[in-house]
Amino acid sequence: MATEKFALQCSACKSVNYVKSKNRATNPDKLVLKKYCRRCRRHTEHNETRLRR
Ligand SMILES: [Zn+2]
Repeated sequence: MATEKFALQCSACKSVNYVKSKNRATNPDKLVLKKYCRRCRRHTEHNETRLRR
């Protein structure tokens, strides 16, 4: 199965707060999720971004 890891990045401060994985075959869309950002100390929109190693 082609599950792919990606990071969720805060759209306000650009810090990477979450790592998720998904199947790119069934979920090709870019994710935008409302998540709690520790740096902003509030819920912000988090965008899918490539996980760098
Ligand atoms: Zn933030």
